[in-house]
Amino acid sequence: MWRLAGTSALRRLERLGWNPVRHPDRASGRMGDMTEIDGMGTERALCVLAENPSAMTLDGTNTWVIAEPDADEAVIVDPGPKDAKHLKRVLDTVEAQGRRIGLILLTHGHPDHSAGAGKLAGMAGGKVKVRALDPRHRLGDEGLSEGDVVTTGGLELRIMETPGHSHDSLTFWLPADGAVLTGDTVLGYGTTVLEGKLGDYLSSLERLRKFAADTEAATILPGHGPKLDDPIAALDYYLDHRRERLAQVEAAVAAGARTAREVVERVYADVDKSLWPAAEQSVQAQLDYLNGR
Ligand SMILES: [Zn+2]
Repeated sequence: MWRLAGTSALRRLERLGWNPVRHPDRASGRMGDMTEIDGMGTERALCVLAENPSAMTLDGTNTWVIAEPDADEAVIVDPGPKDAKHLKRVLDTVEAQGRRIGLILLTHGHPDHSAGAGKLAGMAGGKVKVRALDPRHRLGDEGLSEGDVVTTGGLELRIMETPGHSHDSLTFWLPADGAVLTGDTVLGYGTTVLEGKLGDYLSSLERLRKFAADTEAATILPGHGPKLDDPIAALDYYLDHRRERLAQVEAAVAAGARTAREVVERVYADVDKSLWPAAEQSVQAQLDYLNGR
């Protein structure tokens, strides 16, 4: 079993049956310190935790403030929900560093990451742009897609498209710190819910696994939960988990389950029913994958 720091948030999720991270062969799998999500980071990236905890958002949304050591501009990744108190904290954090917000980026368009973007841009003086893959979430005319390199304030952030959690999910690579910002594609604990295609998601995870190995990435900075200082172990766990679930779904179908709901009733029997609708969505993605859609 992965040794997790036992915070109340995790215990709560475990009571809910929220895929607690269990793996008998991975005692060495290191997870971040659950109690220090707010304020965690790397040399260039700092987490400001939003106060929107839930079964789906874990401890809350991680808003990342990223800047080169000598820069007067910072980049914000995922402003979080439209919560004035949180957005003020983000702005205060940047100003306390002696900087201003130069640009806002979104890992994807889900409201717990994106809803506060417009308001934060306004609070920062109104000239700040929001860049995202999905045009509906942009402010200004600049998009964000595969191969883009963001250089605001002298930073180097490289953009990868990693669909699966959502159609518009991006991953950002901060080479100077060896850090991979994964949004909801990889979380600090538990596993993510799929809205997009499972085939896309598996490809994204395999790509990130290879990327982390090739670059010897030091840390994953996720959209929720603690940072992960063993990216390869985390990605292997995610890939194993998906393959296990897929095998379970295949077995349920072989045993006669016909709909996503019927599969959930068999495969997620031990999981709290409040999470069944989310599970049903994931199962539907798996059924589509098995059916070649
Ligand atoms: Zn999301």
